[in-house]
Amino acid sequence: MPEREHAERSVAVPHRAAPISNDDNMINVSILGSTGSIGTQTLDVIDDNDDADDNYNVTAIGAYRSVDQLAAQANKYHPDVVALGDDTLASDLAPQLPAGTELWTGQDALAKAATTADVVINGVVGFAGLPVTLAALQAGKRLGLANKESMVAAGPLVQQAAKTPGAQIIPVDSEHCAIHQCLRTGSPISGTTDQVSEPQVSEIVLTASGGPFRDYNAEQLQDITVADALAHPTWNMGPKITVDSSTLMNKGLEVIEAQQLFGTEFGVTYDQIRVVIHPQSIIHSMVTFNDAATIAQLSEPDMRLCIGYALAYPQRLNTPYGSIDWAKLTHLEFAEPDRANFACLDLAYAAGRAGHTAPAWLNAANEVAVQAFLDERISWVDIAAILEDVMSSCPNDPADSVPAVLDADAQARRVTQQLLDSRS
Ligand code: MG
Repeated sequence: MPEREHAERSVAVPHRAAPISNDDNMINVSILGSTGSIGTQTLDVIDDNDDADDNYNVTAIGAYRSVDQLAAQANKYHPDVVALGDDTLASDLAPQLPAGTELWTGQDALAKAATTADVVINGVVGFAGLPVTLAALQAGKRLGLANKESMVAAGPLVQQAAKTPGAQIIPVDSEHCAIHQCLRTGSPISGTTDQVSEPQVSEIVLTASGGPFRDYNAEQLQDITVADALAHPTWNMGPKITVDSSTLMNKGLEVIEAQQLFGTEFGVTYDQIRVVIHPQSIIHSMVTFNDAATIAQLSEPDMRLCIGYALAYPQRLNTPYGSIDWAKLTHLEFAEPDRANFACLDLAYAAGRAGHTAPAWLNAANEVAVQAFLDERISWVDIAAILEDVMSSCPNDPADSVPAVLDADAQARRVTQQLLDSRS
């Protein structure tokens, strides 16, 4: 996947209103999943903004088992804490850490490390990110949420945790970051009208690149290899989300994520969330208001813009990422998704509408099925077929506590694994 270049620019740095900080303009950041795609790009953003008026101080980093990469990051950023999920690797990591950096290990280490900063970037992959999401919010922190699975599987619990004083979710997922920006346009400009009295959102439009197979017919979809699925046309991301993009499950999970993030506050139901294929990935999502005015957020696809939005919020980062060259941007295309060949999208709508533990089941089953595809145990088309089968046995119990969600996740993984085993 190509690394994108971004224009080096000299940017005038205006005086900024005080963001949350402990020391002048110092913002303490905890990055969990620091060795993954989101984590490393977060560190890139921090490097790029090191000499601006704001300084981002990395207080904690964490990952499950990438020992050497964690050690390298620790020696560069000197965080107070390094969290390592797999405690059997502690003896490998401990001697590599700089003086003054504590090592926390074990299942709860990453969640605990989420409580050490002003801003937490949750870039953990999959359902494993849920404890980080909950810990950050329950500690009253600002959460830059790249881990959509925690919102999908446990939306009501996450919303409850977000009511903690000081807690705030800023979506890092590019579509939801775009929607967040579009919804902010409801704020009045000085000297004009007052704040609107009620939500006036008619529709949220989530854009999807459509992935590498958007033009494939049913026959061509049969022969997709792992390498094909990992070659995303516009976004540079980790393997799990890249496969999810190719099946449109990523978009399906994002529909649920959007409903959980914005549905309550803006009165948006699943019927008011639409998915459109937009191959250029320039419009990251849109909001249409009751008068049919549509506000969109545009940039070249670059996750660093979204990460920077979460780090600097409510200010804007002074470093541009994904600047559009308007002389070269000749057209933007839109199309309806192919719901028959990309059945994961409607499986997600169905799970979202069913609510309770259905989204947790779908998410867990998808993680297992995608791993089986990456391990070359099943074909690409099998992913949706297996999920459909698993969802038919979802009991859809209430998802009203963390143990209930954990239990649903474990059950769905068991059922999916049994199905996979029975096929081989
Ligand atoms: Mg996204």
